[in-house]
Amino acid sequence: MGLKVAKFGGSSVADALQIEKIKNIIENDGDIRYVVVSAPGKRFSEDSKVTDLLYLCKTHIEHKIPYQQIFQVIRDRFMAVKVNLGVDVNLSSEFEEIQKNLEEGASADYIASRGEYLNAMIIAAYLGYDFVDAASMVRFDDKGRFMEELTNTEIKKKLAEHERAVIPGFYGAKVDGTVRTFSRGGSDITGALVARAMDADVYENWTDVSGFLMADPRIVDDPKPISSVSYKELRELSYMGASVLHEDAIYPARVANIPINIRNTNRPEDPGTIITSEPAALEEGQVIAGIAGSKDFTVIAMYKNLMSSERGFIRKMTAILEDYDVPIEHIPSGVDTLSVVLDNDAIDGKLDEIVDEFERQLKPDTMEVFENMALIATVGHGMSSRTGTAARLFTALAEEKINIRMIDQGSSEMNIIVGVENKHFETAIRAIYRAFVK
Ligand code: ASP
Repeated sequence: MGLKVAKFGGSSVADALQIEKIKNIIENDGDIRYVVVSAPGKRFSEDSKVTDLLYLCKTHIEHKIPYQQIFQVIRDRFMAVKVNLGVDVNLSSEFEEIQKNLEEGASADYIASRGEYLNAMIIAAYLGYDFVDAASMVRFDDKGRFMEELTNTEIKKKLAEHERAVIPGFYGAKVDGTVRTFSRGGSDITGALVARAMDADVYENWTDVSGFLMADPRIVDDPKPISSVSYKELRELSYMGASVLHEDAIYPARVANIPINIRNTNRPEDPGTIITSEPAALEEGQVIAGIAGSKDFTVIAMYKNLMSSERGFIRKMTAILEDYDVPIEHIPSGVDTLSVVLDNDAIDGKLDEIVDEFERQLKPDTMEVFENMALIATVGHGMSSRTGTAARLFTALAEEKINIRMIDQGSSEMNIIVGVENKHFETAIRAIYRAFVK
């Protein structure tokens, strides 16, 4: 018998109807022994996620504004799930305790974690699986930093006592028992940790899309699904804005070499996307895995005669940016030219000062600043083994009369990043897609 860990995201466990679907999925696959769940997410697009409502209760209390109405909405949602599934869980006493803790000043992390906690309890009862609290396995140190190796041993130890279990995602606890959460979307991480500790054959991550698409469907009409992608390619794609899976969820699966399969709870017949360590076997004629990008970057381009033989130029530049607490996205460079790409959010009104400081300390002969730039990454292992990939990409953009302001090819040759003006972002992505995807 195999062993699978399945994580179900917020929309997959948003109400009783969705939870019935996950029961079907689990009953059809006896290998799914460990199930990690999120808190109930949105049931329709204007709906609220339970986690957001829980945070809202906490902020209301902090500002001394009545929170009871919001708390009641959360309670009603869980009560409806319990009644509709017909499970026997004493939710009233759980809610009494949560409310008591809330009023006694419990932390935002504790409050936020209760969505996963209650959902896991209900789902465990409904599936006839054991409930195992993540607070007893997922460990953080007293400063709140995640303790990966200890967590791995604790999960192994604890779950060895349970043949089948449901575990709440998103949180764990410090050694003194105080609850601590991962960042938002963190149930993906819990799923990956359980998969690693239990040496699963596969980590199934069930959501509301059938895996990754080769481009953003809001930009490209009906983009092709990515059937298989490597961890590295995925890392590049998600760094550039493609999102389905929490980025930190990749690492635990990757170290243990466990494939991640993104699946759709509403279309369980779809195979979804498989993420593995080996580069994906490419279909005939396919060169790229996908295209992703983001808007709103600034490029500062400097030219200085004999820059290449000057000592410390890059060090001084990075030190200035460090002083202003602005992380660097990319540094494309030429012999005597150097550009630095920064995220507009991170610059946050400090651009003029940074430019002045560059002027003063780096003394470039010329310096140009391009605001409102978009970066587009074309990603794929297949690119390194073919000639003419870059030519194809640049021709596609030239034909659309799009000016490329920056080019950066990662040394892995798995990725070509181009910088274009924000206003050309969508057209550029469509042009690249047409050039590479038949
Ligand atoms: N419920 C948490 C959130 O909304 C964590 C998760 O769903 O993964 O961020």
